[in-house]
Amino acid sequence: MQGGRFGGSALKMRPAFHYDYVIVGAGFAGSVLAERLAVDGGQRVLLIDRRSHIGGNAYDMHNSAGVLVHRYGPHIFHTNSDEVFAYLSRFTRWRPYEHRVLTHVDGKLLPMPINLDTINRLYDLDLTSAQLERFFEARAEPVAAIRTSEDVIVSRIGRELYEKFFRNYTRKQWGLDPRRLDASVTSRLPIRTNRDDRYFTDVHQAMPLLGYTRMFENMLDHPGITVSLQTDFIDVSSAVRYQSLIYTGPIDEYFDHRYGKLPYRSLRFEHVTLEQPWFQDVAVVNFPNEHRFTRITEYKHLTGQQHRKTSISYEFAQSEGDPYYPVPQPENASLYKRYKLLAEGYSNVHFVGRLGTYKYYNMDQVVGQALTTYAKINGAQSWIPA
Ligand code: FAD
Ligand code: UDP
Repeated sequence: MQGGRFGGSALKMRPAFHYDYVIVGAGFAGSVLAERLAVDGGQRVLLIDRRSHIGGNAYDMHNSAGVLVHRYGPHIFHTNSDEVFAYLSRFTRWRPYEHRVLTHVDGKLLPMPINLDTINRLYDLDLTSAQLERFFEARAEPVAAIRTSEDVIVSRIGRELYEKFFRNYTRKQWGLDPRRLDASVTSRLPIRTNRDDRYFTDVHQAMPLLGYTRMFENMLDHPGITVSLQTDFIDVSSAVRYQSLIYTGPIDEYFDHRYGKLPYRSLRFEHVTLEQPWFQDVAVVNFPNEHRFTRITEYKHLTGQQHRKTSISYEFAQSEGDPYYPVPQPENASLYKRYKLLAEGYSNVHFVGRLGTYKYYNMDQVVGQALTTYAKINGAQSWIPA
């Protein structure tokens, strides 16, 4: 944990005190709402997290070697929203960063998402963009209605490329065949016929200059916000007096899994520090077909840190453990809807964030959703902060 107001021992809540809001979860959803409610709304907020740090899954820290790493895997900020970017810019300066990923296929390291260079290098060809379009058309399989993550890819580029680049990565990542996952999952990646090798094309792509945790510290540095870490909602719910609740943990857990458990995919990271300045050419290298891990991340590419050592992480997907990803499948969407309906009966409880609303959201979408929630609480027309 970095130093500062939220380092080490947590600020402790005051049981006898009456809070206007208790916020469960100090990730993006909870922290943005704490900031807005306290700074703009003048509310007294208790922000709790069961973990020993703020920032949720975006938490970063200097490891024992002094290298800044993301404990829960690579987090790259990107957004097309000027408003979300302007809002976060109140709490951090930025380091321009465009994310590039290589994937290991047939013994070669190739650009991912698939682009003109990926195909030319994979097959030792010299196609132009127009030729590549026809190459894809010749291989694409007709699919009447695109419903699954397999449909998305085979209908665009055919089965061979699907099998090389997507099928096994997806099976590892989700523990499911792409045929059983919504189209939205593999639709996250474009298929390109040009040479653009950036992972994202958003207008704003940058990393917080001093890291995410520092940005969260700045966001929460207000006398109206009390932060209590290593504190579970279960320990607070009856011990603290409050008016309203914002819950950014798993919605099914809040309701004691009344309708059954919503599935979440979890991850395990093996963090390693090496006695060498660099390990790989880009921040992330994917391994769809070999190994049990899905990808290796080298953090210095993301953070711009100069250090004589380097830190990397191997990422393994698993079904047990902390919830990281909602699993996009129709049956899970139906189950979530039942919880959402139940939640609508609780007017002083707001469910927000990736776990609270069971949405495969990126950071900027969670910030937008939290700002929208704040506007709704205020009865405001727009969420754009004054
Ligand atoms: P979280 O960050 O999960 O925060 C929820 C918090 O609630 C947690 O800290 C948890 O401990 C706490 N909590 C839950 N229940 C309780 C309870 N009962 N009592 C107390 N505390 C509780 N997004 C991007 O935009 N770009 C990326 O590159 C990117 N990469 C990612 C890589 C990985 C490996 C993962 C898993 C996600 C990535 N994301 C990325 C998504 C990003 O992490 C999320 O959009 C964002 O962090 C969600 O914020 P949140 O506040 O909704 O949830
Ligand atoms: N994907 C894949 N091969 C890759 C990269 C991604 O099959 O090399 C699929 C996989 O199903 C993954 C999804 O595309 O879960 C979305 O990828 P993204 O990089 O957006 O996942 P995240 O960063 O959210 O884990």
